[in-house]
Amino acid sequence: MKIFKDKHTLQKEILKTKGISFVPTMGGLHEGHISLIKQSKKTKLKTLVSIFVNPKQFNKKSDFKSYPRNTKKDIKQLKKLKINYLYIPTFKDIYGFKPKKKVFLDKFSKKLCGKFRKGHFEGVLSVVNRFIEIIKPRYIFLGKKDYQQIYLIKKHIKIRNIRSKIIECKTIREKNGIACSSRNSNLNKNQMKIASNIFYYLSNIKKKIKNNHSLFNVNKIKKNLINLGASKIDYLEIYNVKSFKKIKRPSKKFNLFFAYYIKNTRLIDNI
Ligand code: AMP
Repeated sequence: MKIFKDKHTLQKEILKTKGISFVPTMGGLHEGHISLIKQSKKTKLKTLVSIFVNPKQFNKKSDFKSYPRNTKKDIKQLKKLKINYLYIPTFKDIYGFKPKKKVFLDKFSKKLCGKFRKGHFEGVLSVVNRFIEIIKPRYIFLGKKDYQQIYLIKKHIKIRNIRSKIIECKTIREKNGIACSSRNSNLNKNQMKIASNIFYYLSNIKKKIKNNHSLFNVNKIKKNLINLGASKIDYLEIYNVKSFKKIKRPSKKFNLFFAYYIKNTRLIDNI
């Protein structure tokens, strides 16, 4: 595994290859990241993983500061996985140039997480656009846990005529049901239990509302989440996962999208 901290040396190396399968991450690696990497390795192209905690997608400085980082452990894990390249850029390496393509930000960026994290998706799209320009990946592997992110990146790629193909990867979960997330490491045992109870409660609700629409009473469900130990709920909404249209009545292919806090830790998921 070759490690790069500078885009020019990375680009020289990439030129020698037949193409790149790219897995962008913010580090704090877990089983979710690992499943993306394993899928990327199946493409037979060289796999490049990036670790960059992008300050521009954090709407609060304190959240950026407390975001879990463990680069040493990450490097060890990535070596074991035998990826080809690891890119750990500095802020300047990413933001010290003017990209050729402008970010396309679909209006859907104002919904769900975008409503509660001002500037979040502007930051995500900006960093992804820059990574694409540096790496020109054939494939980009993204997790469905961040479904809204996938949707917005796909829109940007389509509108800007970018050749990279997005590969959507299923959400990997802990044994207790909750989606693997770097932020889980900020939860203590009791808080993990709360998150797990919330996951099972909402999974149950989803099953029930499939058969009986009138059971989807958002205010009541939110109240129950607070009773289960959530400190605050940003949103709980149902969307058709194909069209990404908000629906009032659960139809065939819908998911529950939710974001909530346990103390200072913000968790998102869709089921
Ligand atoms: P992050 O490091 O949180 O920015 O995530 C990097 C990539 O891993 C994104 O494409 C995420 O959607 C994906 N990812 C994060 N958690 C999971 C998970 N539990 N299952 C599958 N993919 C995930």
